[in-house]
Amino acid sequence: MKKFQKIRGAHEINPGESETWSYLTKKITEIFESFSYKEIRLPIIESTSLFQRSVGEGTDIVNKEMFTFESKSGKSLTLRPEGTAGCLRASIEMGLTDRGPMRLFYQGPMYRYERPQKGRNREFYQLSAEAYGFDGVNIESEMIQMSHKIFSLLNLEDHYLEINSLGSKKSQQNFSKALKEYLRPLEDQLDPDSKVRLDSNTLRILDSKNPETQKILKNGPKIFEFLDQRSTENFDLLKSSLDEMKIPYKINHNLVRGLDYYNDAVYEWKSDALGSQNTFCAGGRYDSLSKNLGGRDISAVGLSIGLDRLIISLTNQSVFKTKKKLIVIILEDNLFYAGSKIAETIRNNIDEIVVRFDGVRSNLKSQLKKAVKDNYDFAIIIGNEEINKGIFSFKNLKKDDNQLSLTESEILKSISKNIENE
Ligand code: ATP
Ligand code: MG
Repeated sequence: MKKFQKIRGAHEINPGESETWSYLTKKITEIFESFSYKEIRLPIIESTSLFQRSVGEGTDIVNKEMFTFESKSGKSLTLRPEGTAGCLRASIEMGLTDRGPMRLFYQGPMYRYERPQKGRNREFYQLSAEAYGFDGVNIESEMIQMSHKIFSLLNLEDHYLEINSLGSKKSQQNFSKALKEYLRPLEDQLDPDSKVRLDSNTLRILDSKNPETQKILKNGPKIFEFLDQRSTENFDLLKSSLDEMKIPYKINHNLVRGLDYYNDAVYEWKSDALGSQNTFCAGGRYDSLSKNLGGRDISAVGLSIGLDRLIISLTNQSVFKTKKKLIVIILEDNLFYAGSKIAETIRNNIDEIVVRFDGVRSNLKSQLKKAVKDNYDFAIIIGNEEINKGIFSFKNLKKDDNQLSLTESEILKSISKNIENE
């Protein structure tokens, strides 16, 4: 019979990997919470028009990457390609943005119809923070400080921060016009994507990976030459604040984002270990989006961590201490309750342990052999004779020790001591 396969660009997170995913999510969430961000859980399906309006008609996401379908009632729906638009949509709809400054975070899968490759999937995961109603650059500093804290805690190697200012929407338009004028006579030398973007989304050409296009851009107008005084001052303030916090950064004047809603500060965390998909966290300010979505005129700043890429950059590192593993083995079927009881006592008394009890009698030698192979640390073996005396056989599988005959409380002590000494 035909076997089913996963959809291209989707992937499962298997046992063995999922522990790292849970650990990361937990750590990042704890840091967000410690900065007073609160979790919001958001739908995965939204109206297609939400993304057309926010991410923008001329962008890759809206033009060619969305999973869009028609509902039974004929509405156009889309699996969210990103979370910023949905989070603001929900906040406006529920009146959260009327309650003064607000810090939120959320996580979950996003969907983009892209060519799958290392670090690029069609279903991928983000963990993101958004802050509404903060005008000054302190909030950008906070976002960067938070992400810096997360990546330092994870001991990420070879990672760095790039920042840029896109200026106000007005200066972006002026720059865009100047760039278009400069590139028009050179149109034939541009890569095909950039040629199309000349008329649809000129700013995005800066992001081209094509070396010829990049060479041409070198002599063209620069975005920072178009910043107004306010944007320049804000960018300077942000830089001083990062200096003050001793957070290293590089200024990349060609850094633009693939979404239309950004203004002023944008930032990306990159890792050379990732190859060409090197950005694993990105964000910036998007002050016009709320009004654009029919909400009040409030400022907004966000950041989004791409978990798939963060995991890849951690592949060769063990980021957390794995829990100890213990197996309870019974030598007779009638010992089920004794086995179940000691297993539960150990779970209740020791935090950092996984206890397995299968509940059926089995061949002791092969069970122990398998436990060693599966990287178990301890085994408790229960036989009829000993149980009558209140005693269990205890074996440290990581050492060549003999089996010890111990009481329940002696076993607990021995395991705790072993965990403490690590
Ligand atoms: P890229 O230029 O790499 O396509 P992007 O600008 O489209 O990235 P954003 O929309 O800013 O990405 O998303 C934030 C983060 O989400 C990215 O930095 C990346 O880590 C992650 N991300 C985006 N698209 C994908 C994808 N298709 N697969 C895996 N992760 C992704
Ligand atoms: Mg993209």
